[in-house]
Amino acid sequence: QHVGKPTLIANHGADVIRGSAAAKSLIGNALKTRVQSVNGDVCEPGEEDAFFVADLGEVYRQFMRWKMNLPRVKPHYAVKCNPDPQVLRLLAELGTGFDCASKAEIESVLNLGIDPSRIIYAQPCKTKSYVRYAAQQNVKQMTFDNADELYKIKQLFPNAELYLRIITDDSESLCRLSLKFGAPMDTTQDLLTLAKELDLNVVGVAFHVGSGASDPNAFLKAVKDARCVFDQATDLGFSMHTLDVGGGFCSDTFEKMAAVLSDALDAYFPPSVRVIGEPGRYFVAEAFTIACHVIARRSVEDPVSGKTSYMLYLNDGVYGNFSSIMFDHQQPVAKVLQCAGTFEYGAGTMEFDTEAGVEYSIWGPTCDGIDCISQSIEFPQIVDVGDWLFFEDMGAYTKCSATRFNGFTDSHDTIYVSSEPGASALLGMH
Ligand code: PLP
Repeated sequence: QHVGKPTLIANHGADVIRGSAAAKSLIGNALKTRVQSVNGDVCEPGEEDAFFVADLGEVYRQFMRWKMNLPRVKPHYAVKCNPDPQVLRLLAELGTGFDCASKAEIESVLNLGIDPSRIIYAQPCKTKSYVRYAAQQNVKQMTFDNADELYKIKQLFPNAELYLRIITDDSESLCRLSLKFGAPMDTTQDLLTLAKELDLNVVGVAFHVGSGASDPNAFLKAVKDARCVFDQATDLGFSMHTLDVGGGFCSDTFEKMAAVLSDALDAYFPPSVRVIGEPGRYFVAEAFTIACHVIARRSVEDPVSGKTSYMLYLNDGVYGNFSSIMFDHQQPVAKVLQCAGTFEYGAGTMEFDTEAGVEYSIWGPTCDGIDCISQSIEFPQIVDVGDWLFFEDMGAYTKCSATRFNGFTDSHDTIYVSSEPGASALLGMH
């Protein structure tokens, strides 16, 4: 059984960059070795379960890219995005902080030996017993955005270091967070006044421009608003020292976002102000690839053209690691991993004549009709039961929100590889 045993494979080759042949072949070899170790005809139930390959070198490169483009902003990894233990270990070694949303997340970070000062409890509406836990563990930094939360903190953790989370324009983001959190700008003065009356310790301002943000100007506007709130708080006598610029960064647009944010920070906040961020997706989205087994197939004849298409049923779906389709508005792209015993890694990315392609729809394993991964996709191959598909970019908001619906597992193996010697060295991968 593979279950629960992390496999670590390092690559001590020369520098590789994402998407390079070396990184791809490392991932490909890990996929191949695992797939070839499973014989669907005789294996134990669950041995053919979907599994991940995580390239920790990708996380390492994203960290270096962050440092190059946002040197002023100290990242606090948003654990909720993917609480994978090796990702947490690597980021801990790299010296990031952590954004935690619950007692369990705080606990998992503290268990790595992280100092509580490297954690921000960035949830403006917290469970009382969790606030007590944060107080016991001396996790002082936390956000708030409403008066009730201030009374709660006064009662449970009056020495906490508080960040006022403000609302943002997140209309251009994939997942809007300001529908639920963030103080409107016309309430900040009253909230700060109340915090002063309660003798609480406000030290900063926080915002989040929405997960999967696409409008760099959202950062500019949020930084300007944060400046106003800093000034309000300073006038009330608070000693404001930190700005938290939240998450929302995507790999594809990172340099563009970072440039606008950096300029805004330099324009509105002097170097004496400490700046932190809470990136999640940015670090992990592209580091994880998932492989899924084709457990069933249904042939569909088009009565007019006579053409055959197929419905493929995989052993993972929207109630599992493809929860990102529902919750994160993603459209994962299937590629053929192994077909008729032949390893096809990479072939699925080839251009081919669509007329020569075979059409498939791809479904998850549960009884629900909503459990559809892809309505229509073409492959050049005839994919059958027992073959394997793979999906790249499956690291963000996937396994963290998987369920056990219909009795399928919510915990899948991860095989770790590293395409960066720097990451291998930090993690002791040989
Ligand atoms: N910080 C907070 C408070 C969040 O709610 C989230 C995501 O929901 C994040 C950070 C991470 O956002 P992202 O993955 O877009 O970087």
